[in-house]
Amino acid sequence: MIDFGYTITKDRQLDYDRGDMRYYRLVQSLEPSVDVCMECGSCTATCSAGQFTEFNIRKAHTLIRRGNTESIKAELRKCMFCGKCQLVCPRGVNLRNLILAMNRAIELLG
Ligand code: SF4
Ligand code: SF4
Repeated sequence: MIDFGYTITKDRQLDYDRGDMRYYRLVQSLEPSVDVCMECGSCTATCSAGQFTEFNIRKAHTLIRRGNTESIKAELRKCMFCGKCQLVCPRGVNLRNLILAMNRAIELLG
């Protein structure tokens, strides 16, 4: 095969059927405001932990919404519960309680 110097990009299609949605359903029951998130990213832009680490709060709640929890288990421990994300959220998502709910879901479901 001729080497053109580029490769085919890996498929990034989301397969919701393979995600474990038990986590999201539990998080939803503990903090229903998660449903009004519009993924604007303001929470991530102001996050204190994000200034010093690779922590990305929007990515964390997006992954749990997709049923992908493996990569966020250790990430959530980086949150300092300062509440800045909650102050700037245009949809009024109760982010601190959402983080507690995500931790609780991981604790209960493994
Ligand atoms: S700031 Fe609020 S609406 Fe925007 S991504 Fe974060 S939680 Fe969602
Ligand atoms: S409460 Fe956690 S996620 Fe929100 S801004 Fe503070 S460190 Fe970031």
